[in-house]
Amino acid sequence: MEHQGNRVLAICYDFDKTLSPTDMQAQGYIQSVGYDVAEFWKKTDLLAEGNDMDKNLAYMYVMMDEARGRLIFNREKLQEYGSKVQLFPGVAEWFDRLNAYGKERDISVEHYIISSGLKEMIDGTEMARKGVFKKVYASSFFYDDRGMAVWPAQVVNFTNKTQFLFRIVKGVLDVNDNGVNNYFRPEDQRVPFRNMVYIGDSDTDIPCMKLVNINGGHSIGVYDPVKQNKDRVHQMLRENRIRYFAPADYTAGSELDELLKAIIDKTNSYEVLEGKHVRDVHEVSGEE
Ligand SMILES: [Mg+2]
Repeated sequence: MEHQGNRVLAICYDFDKTLSPTDMQAQGYIQSVGYDVAEFWKKTDLLAEGNDMDKNLAYMYVMMDEARGRLIFNREKLQEYGSKVQLFPGVAEWFDRLNAYGKERDISVEHYIISSGLKEMIDGTEMARKGVFKKVYASSFFYDDRGMAVWPAQVVNFTNKTQFLFRIVKGVLDVNDNGVNNYFRPEDQRVPFRNMVYIGDSDTDIPCMKLVNINGGHSIGVYDPVKQNKDRVHQMLRENRIRYFAPADYTAGSELDELLKAIIDKTNSYEVLEGKHVRDVHEVSGEE
């Protein structure tokens, strides 16, 4: 088939403080094991520091440990906490609206979560249940045959977050598929970096933002629309981690909404030209 450009746009989201105003664990779970939120994170940080332990593995361990004798710690329970997680304004309608906008321009818009939070909780949100995400990459537990969480299955930290971007570029989405290291000609990449958007709020997003940014993609820093603290996004822009920043307001007509629509428009125009270029190159080289 004649090359028509790469017509998929992947929007990748961090979760905590990007789609949700606060950490997902702090919206029910931490309180239900009798902790104050700050005290809980202090405990997990101390465990990580004292044992040269990954911070995410540390919080997962403490979550499991503190649940013992207090509450049932299984997939259903975590999904139930997830179903109660608060979202920033407009998140619920955002995905369908952008998909429709892309469709009118022949761009298929896909949404991916890349989070150090818990996959089970994200899977429990109404939007995830509706199937808006092509893939959710996040930390998760392994459950024994009685359904109890006994071990980490996946742990997503700030540097291994970038692995998932390469999976998305190549369309090799399964976490155990080593095909992610295969070579793809640029024109065969399912989602070249230029067609990637990464939306995040903090330091843990920096490797992903930087990777997307230096490869011609679109990194966006968001900040809480109520608190209006822009210090972090200003710094990320100054240090060339992000191209744009906006409040985490996902409602129709918001700054973020307009920005994404402009990116979809640009992708459409650019890929018309790229398709023509690749066809011309292939004619000269005799490749398909
Ligand atoms: Mg975050």
